[in-house]
Amino acid sequence: MFKYLLFDLDNTLYSSRYGLEDNVRRRIREFSSGFLGISPDEAWRQRMALAGKYGTNLEWLMGEKGFTGVESYFAAVHPPNEADSLPADPELRAFLAGLPVPKAILTNSPGEHAELILSRLGIRDLFTHIFDIRQSGYKGKPRPEVFNRALNILGVKARSVLFIDDNPSYVEGFIALGGSGLLLDENGAHGDYPGARIRELKELARHIP
Ligand SMILES: [Mg+2]
Repeated sequence: MFKYLLFDLDNTLYSSRYGLEDNVRRRIREFSSGFLGISPDEAWRQRMALAGKYGTNLEWLMGEKGFTGVESYFAAVHPPNEADSLPADPELRAFLAGLPVPKAILTNSPGEHAELILSRLGIRDLFTHIFDIRQSGYKGKPRPEVFNRALNILGVKARSVLFIDDNPSYVEGFIALGGSGLLLDENGAHGDYPGARIRELKELARHIP
């Protein structure tokens, strides 16, 4: 039996069809473009060329481009109206509430973004902790220290936690620490992923003993 379920937030607890994360990615490209004085496409090309070294665009800007304006970045990437299209999800709420395991969030976004999304969905109270990017010194998944920090605070070992994320490299990062991982592959985009995969969150139930 798992002692904790650790959830990613974006495109995991809500569907990618709402376009929220597409808009976040667009604003990330625009911000990088403005900071670097190059086109958004070129900024993204440069960032993705180092995707193996940096799990997030912010880490790439800080590590490679001398960027320090973290709060201006968060403000630009996560405007206050970013989740206006996201409806409450009472079905999700009932499903999560019925899972007999404590739950926490591990996101590469800032905490206010997580609070906003969880409040919109109507599920904020179902999670004991939100681990965000500020708390980990602007380091993100899939860094081991980011997972380990969350595990230490939760007081559990990786082997007794199930981690669910829509990003294959993040799931693999957690499995490498000895944990169990599930890839949420809503659109069937990761057919080559070798590990356990679900198409929608409700399938999670059959992975919990
Ligand atoms: Mg995600």
